[in-house]
Amino acid sequence: MHHRRLIKVNGIVQGVGFRPFVYNLALKHNLTGFVSNTSAGVYIEIEGSPTAINNFSTELRSDPPPLSVIADIKEISILIQNDANFIIKPSDGNESVSTLISPDMAVCDDCVKELFDPKDRRYRYPFINCTNCGPRYTIIDNIPYDRPFTSMRHFKLCPDCQSEYDDPTDRRFHAQPNACPVCGPQVTLTLKDGNIVETDDPIVETIIALKKGNVVAIKGLGGFHLAVDANNENAVKTLRQRKGREEKPLAVMVRDLQTAERLCEISEDERKLLTSQQSPIVLLKKHANYTLAESVAPNNDRLGVMLPYTPLHHLLLDAELKMLVMTSANFCEEPICIDIDEAETRLSAIVDYFLNHNRDIYLRSDDSVMIHLAGDPRPIRRSRGFAPQPIFVQSDGLPILAVGGELKNTVCLLKEDKAFLSQHIGDLENLEAYEFFKMAISHLERIFETTPELIVHDMHPGYLSTQWAKEQTDIPLLAVQHHHAHIASCMAEHDLDEPVIGIALDGTGYGTDNTIWGGEVLIADFAEFQRFAYLEPLPLPGGDAAIKAPWRTAVSYLLHAFDGELPELQFLENHDVSTVVEMVKKNINSPLTTSCGRLFDAVTALCGGRQTIRYEGQAAIEFMQSAGNAVHRPYDYIFDRKEDSWIIRIAPMIRSIVWSLRKGEDMSHISAGFHLTLAALFTEIAELAREETGIKKVVLSGGVFQNQRLFEEIIPRLESKGLQVYTHSQVPTNDGGISLGQTLIGRKFLSSMS
Ligand code: ZN
Ligand code: ZN
Ligand code: FE
Repeated sequence: MHHRRLIKVNGIVQGVGFRPFVYNLALKHNLTGFVSNTSAGVYIEIEGSPTAINNFSTELRSDPPPLSVIADIKEISILIQNDANFIIKPSDGNESVSTLISPDMAVCDDCVKELFDPKDRRYRYPFINCTNCGPRYTIIDNIPYDRPFTSMRHFKLCPDCQSEYDDPTDRRFHAQPNACPVCGPQVTLTLKDGNIVETDDPIVETIIALKKGNVVAIKGLGGFHLAVDANNENAVKTLRQRKGREEKPLAVMVRDLQTAERLCEISEDERKLLTSQQSPIVLLKKHANYTLAESVAPNNDRLGVMLPYTPLHHLLLDAELKMLVMTSANFCEEPICIDIDEAETRLSAIVDYFLNHNRDIYLRSDDSVMIHLAGDPRPIRRSRGFAPQPIFVQSDGLPILAVGGELKNTVCLLKEDKAFLSQHIGDLENLEAYEFFKMAISHLERIFETTPELIVHDMHPGYLSTQWAKEQTDIPLLAVQHHHAHIASCMAEHDLDEPVIGIALDGTGYGTDNTIWGGEVLIADFAEFQRFAYLEPLPLPGGDAAIKAPWRTAVSYLLHAFDGELPELQFLENHDVSTVVEMVKKNINSPLTTSCGRLFDAVTALCGGRQTIRYEGQAAIEFMQSAGNAVHRPYDYIFDRKEDSWIIRIAPMIRSIVWSLRKGEDMSHISAGFHLTLAALFTEIAELAREETGIKKVVLSGGVFQNQRLFEEIIPRLESKGLQVYTHSQVPTNDGGISLGQTLIGRKFLSSMS
């Protein structure tokens, strides 16, 4: 007896080889029927023995094509039709209305094999790809995802490529970026003045240039990288000098896993991350005998490592050039360059050569950055390989756009049960980033055919994202507090639509009392929050100037802890302290802050650690790493009740730390004690919150939780008290994640209006 079943598959099922996969699966199980793309996803009808149908269904779920993401499968039995065979039905024309688009993915093993096979027609062809790999989101400029709407439209398929494209059994069936040396894009090497270097093999010529210590701009998937030989200290220094990047660690791309293992310790989990199709930069612990050029990642015990993820990278990293510094081609936090003209003008002062190609990039996308902490991979920057894959949420409602914060900006478009978080946009302090921000918004709205009914922005009146939102006069707005958005973002990851104890620790966020918050314990749900506890507000002498100079914050916190007198400490001898003292005492340009990031800065500086910083978080990172294996008891702290909130007094801790220093304890022990203190005090506050509210769920968010030591100390402490702990693993815990939280708060707001 034959049966027939209708199967509807929803998710990322277009442009990822789903139909040929279904076709081959049906043939394998001797089924007849058809598969087609519809506006609601992939539509399948299969007919055959009940066992075969069940096996088909099991395999469809367990082993779908590598780039596909199945969000939902519906199956219903229907009447048999007695088809003669199984076919792929042609598209009905408006197929991609609600199907999803795959992120750009690393070149697959099959393609790499062909790339290095002298008998293959794509031998050493730097744009080899198939339905299982290659560029997607960055080459699309409209929907449906078909070649005419991608930057491949300028390349007419040759007969060989066309027949692959048309053959349902081929790995390149409907692979939109399909190309070969005859018909596809090509690379060229130019000097910085734009003159072409005459050569038979631009890639070999580039390797020679890199080996000589030159800086080369290399056009990749989502923009340009600046590359230098990672073993050449002079080349790395030149790059830093020309780019104006003083100390912030640079990422490296290494030829293979073995090479990475020679530089860093790599756990099994980290290996999986490195070799995943998303192919992110992974922050790994350097080996003791680590040997790269000193300037690659100075004063840092971690190194950002990635493996080659395009065919071009595989060709560049040959047996003799195994490690390249690969940093996105931007000035500080400007977005990565994508346009060759733009790149040439902006980069000609930095580079010696351009390795360019003629496949346009429509949308910028930086490398993603991940770290493995407390047993899970954590995104530090969610970009290439991830965007625009949605985060699925439990609720449904009208479309909402959230525009994020200021630093590490991302935007998020919430459509039905899918939150589309943009790629990393960068710090919205300069015009380029702001232009990219606007472009990312219009791109998301166009690709997902959505006009938002509400725009959510941060409460900070000065953020460019807030200002942009206020210019959108035809759409209602909602301002959301920064740390509420942080907590909501982590709640969204875990579908927690209920009140939680939210611990939000970060550098800067605008508070409802117009001061700068950043050490907050909130009782929050998507609708509202109460400030249950916070770090004691203290003056930040010079505001932003103090963020760049942690010693200023140290002076302020010491004045507070010692009743307006400065104790004798070594670090004070190196600074002109009197101005800062006066600013604090007379309250001149010294806004109050509860920031946990600033507390880290102050303690670091007063221990003699980093006094001024070259990149965000530098003081705290070095201070944390200085702890090493040291152990120390926690320092003192007390809580005070003020109205409805607890205030966490830090003066006792600052005084104990000063006594430690006086006794001659070194920074590593103080650092260990400080981290433990924070873990202990926030655990105690969480217990207080549970006693008062009965809530057992604790949500951790904010940039400070990138701090491995604090993060890995606080989780078991909270859990040992019977609290359930929720942390980020899909979106960054830093400000790159807040747009997700903003959308969910917006959704709750809209539903309360109706
Ligand atoms: Zn492939
Ligand atoms: Zn071709
Ligand atoms: Fe934040």
